Amino acid sequence: MTYKDSANNNHLGIGYLYIQLLKQGIFDFDAIATELQKMREAMELENNYCYDKFIQNGSDSQGIIKDNFHEDGEKIVYCVNHYLGLNRHPKVIEASINALKKYGTGCGTSAVSGGRSQLHYELEKSIAEFLGKESVLLFPTGYTTNLGVVSGLCQRGNIIFADSEVHASIIDGIKLSKAKRFFFEHNNLDDLARKLDQHKNHDGNKIVILESAYSMSGDLAPLKEIVELKREHNFYLYLDEAHTFGFCGKRGRGLASEMGVLDEVDFFVSTLSKSCASIGGFVATKEKYKTLLMCKSNPYLFQACISPADVATVKASLEIIKSDDSLAKDLHAKNRYMRAKLTKLGFDLGNSKSPIIPIFIPDVEKLEAFGKDLYKKGIFAVNIIFPAVSPTDGRIRLIINTSHTYEQLDMTADILSELGRKYNLLTS
Ligand code: PMP
Repeated sequence: MTYKDSANNNHLGIGYLYIQLLKQGIFDFDAIATELQKMREAMELENNYCYDKFIQNGSDSQGIIKDNFHEDGEKIVYCVNHYLGLNRHPKVIEASINALKKYGTGCGTSAVSGGRSQLHYELEKSIAEFLGKESVLLFPTGYTTNLGVVSGLCQRGNIIFADSEVHASIIDGIKLSKAKRFFFEHNNLDDLARKLDQHKNHDGNKIVILESAYSMSGDLAPLKEIVELKREHNFYLYLDEAHTFGFCGKRGRGLASEMGVLDEVDFFVSTLSKSCASIGGFVATKEKYKTLLMCKSNPYLFQACISPADVATVKASLEIIKSDDSLAKDLHAKNRYMRAKLTKLGFDLGNSKSPIIPIFIPDVEKLEAFGKDLYKKGIFAVNIIFPAVSPTDGRIRLIINTSHTYEQLDMTADILSELGRKYNLLTS
């Protein structure tokens, strides 16, 4: 299969080609890479290869978009998760600069080899206090937090029940663990209850893994109902709050806090790359689980720590989040504003509620053409296609941040409205 075959075959992109080659029994990585390279070059010629595009001036709500071959001009940006815009906040930047001057650049080694600084220690303590958990363990990224916590905890004899839409980092953690695993239908409590029931006599640990808000769909987990199931079935609850930490719940403690069930979360995980505008991740849990992970989790043991400047960025971001909820309010207001506009226009936004707004376009060719037009008209958003979602579940994903102005949201809605009519996507 080649790029052009793939183009005839609905042009699902490079990920689709990769899966097709595997399905044809091609496992020679050189042969696979050759085909993918051909496709990439052909797509680049057509300025249709989106994976290399970047914002020239760094993450912001607007910027010049480029790749290795093209400069595509100024666009409004909807693909980054700096929900609270703290990456440009003067106090956050100052804290980062001061830490750089005092602590230098990298840590040079992992935490167990002495890579942490006073700042790392203080951040762990302050997140634990903020969430009312015994203890916090920092990891270098959100990805390696999930990888390290799930694989570090779950052993032979344990059973994992995970929502089928959990992030790749959780899935990879599950793959690395030796536990039995079952995926329940996305947000389907009946399916989860059925699976738990089937294993009610299992006497090893059971752990249910969810996200508070899902990164591809923007919908929320039914946390209150899950906690009712927890009381009945006695499992550990693992919750990734990547897309809610910092702006949901009491002073940004997350969705479990908003739902009044924070105490029921046994493993509270979040990345620090979204609301906290930095890099890194953490798990908040009991001290003894921290001890276990410190000696058992390879991504913790064998990976260098986040740099002090990045830790300082998080600390400063959290100070702002804790002391002032105006940014969170602004984000929720902008999310409601944009949703109301797009819903009124008649777009299908699925069950989304978080600042992740997917516009569902099940026809993959239409989705691709729509995405290209949107980009040409000055909007930089991401098409979510197979294999990230099933082939008929494609969508354009807009991520709202406080740094978007109402003027930018209005301009975007006008462009979407025009294209929605052109592609016959509007139901009203
Ligand atoms: N968990 C979830 C739910 C995510 O969406 C992401 C990344 N988008 C991660 C973990 C990984 O976080 P990071 O990119 O900061 O490593």
